Amino acid sequence: MKKDITTTNPYSNEDLESYNYFTSNEISEILLHADKTFQTWKTKGLSKKTGLVKKVADNLWDNRDKYAKLISSEMGKPIKESLAEIDKCMYLCDFYAKTSSDLLADALIETDAQESFISYDPLGVILGVMPWNYPFWQVLRFAIPTLTAGNCVVLKHASNVTGCALAIQDVFEDAGYPMGCFTTIVADHSAIESIIKNDIVKAISLTGSEKAGRKIAEIAGSQLKKLVLELGGNNACIVLNDADLDSHLSTMVNARMLNTGQSCIAAKRFIVEAEIYDTFLEQFTKKVAALKSGDPLLEDTEIGTLARPDLADILEDQVNRSVEQGAHIHYGNARDHAYYQPTIITEVTTNMPVFTEETFGPVAAIIKVSNKEEAYKLASDTSFGLGTMIFTENIEDAKQNIIHIEDGAFFINEMVKSDPRLPFGGTKNSGYGRELSKEGLLAFTNKKTVYIK
Ligand code: NAP
Repeated sequence: MKKDITTTNPYSNEDLESYNYFTSNEISEILLHADKTFQTWKTKGLSKKTGLVKKVADNLWDNRDKYAKLISSEMGKPIKESLAEIDKCMYLCDFYAKTSSDLLADALIETDAQESFISYDPLGVILGVMPWNYPFWQVLRFAIPTLTAGNCVVLKHASNVTGCALAIQDVFEDAGYPMGCFTTIVADHSAIESIIKNDIVKAISLTGSEKAGRKIAEIAGSQLKKLVLELGGNNACIVLNDADLDSHLSTMVNARMLNTGQSCIAAKRFIVEAEIYDTFLEQFTKKVAALKSGDPLLEDTEIGTLARPDLADILEDQVNRSVEQGAHIHYGNARDHAYYQPTIITEVTTNMPVFTEETFGPVAAIIKVSNKEEAYKLASDTSFGLGTMIFTENIEDAKQNIIHIEDGAFFINEMVKSDPRLPFGGTKNSGYGRELSKEGLLAFTNKKTVYIK
């Protein structure tokens, strides 16, 4: 009998594995078990918890090649980027293993009490709903701090990376976490609604599209449950006349093309000042054209496929609609099944889909502007608010503009990227709440006031 989910390699188009959704009884059992585990897990000392985080890192190291291959097979990421993803997860573990005791320590506050402080207590069982684009990283950046703060986690991962979802549960169990601390649930959207409504689930973290964000926020809101939303982005990359292209051009290309363009924080709109425009376009195009497309499992591949052919359909439609409105294909735009050739589009205006919508693939929209003021104005002209990057030699001037950037991040002479030491998250339709750093560790805690007279 046909199963509910079949994962498929988007490069070879071969089926990988099939899975059935968990039944509602199985899901109820998982939630009860997670809740029971939470009652003891929350009382364990922090050194026990950070010790297990180190074991996760060991497990990732021991199975680095296996997990990287699984990622590339399920969603088409070039293997060297999948390996880098596992390495970044190890770095995340190292960060929280070393810093959590300081970051979670009671915060003493002087008042008229004999003693008063904030105690950071866990909330309980937290549901993570996660996307396929960084199938290990997205889950671990949520789960490691959430578990370390004393919560338990249930994961609903994107269906096309169900193999990764189950492998991640093995990572936690093999590391020695008590059963029930981290559990993967294989389920469809309707089951997610009833999980969110279950009293055992105390909060939700969603990383995904704006559409999913709106739906899950509605359900969580009806239950008054806390939510962290990490949604889509439409980041601008501003290139001013004084930008040092020799030093930063590769970074600009990576900012768009990493993960074959499927990153929330990718530079999607390049806003370029007139004087440097021609040089930028020529050099940018040369570098993009040199990127090697091919089998994601080969070491020298730089551009894989999109994660599914329907995602290439969406991208193609966004490009076609922009071309109908007058955009010009400057480079690329070939398409084969889930493969989308790196593409550069010029003559872009602010009403075109490649400007207004999130393009989740290797398509760079280039916009020429006559001055810096116009560049900043267009950068903010989006419903999303994940990040803005700017390339300029006048750092002092860029710093004067920090206050005018409405996004969750502003990177000067660097691409917007995540780092476990720094908070990560967005504004506007990119969501709310923060992951990583101290913010991520405290995201699912009850900041309890304790007062002793
Ligand atoms: P997606 O379609 O929204 O799916 C994300 C997750 O939500 C999947 O597990 C999906 O399950 C689930 N989901 C979707 N609709 C749902 C619903 N109505 N009810 C319950 N669950 C639902 O997004 P995606 O295509 O996987 O990922 C790409 C998007 O994620 C982009 O917009 C990207 O910018 C964003 N993203 C944001 C960040 C960030 O940190 N801000 C990071 C990475 C990606 P199924 O697979 O079963 O549909």
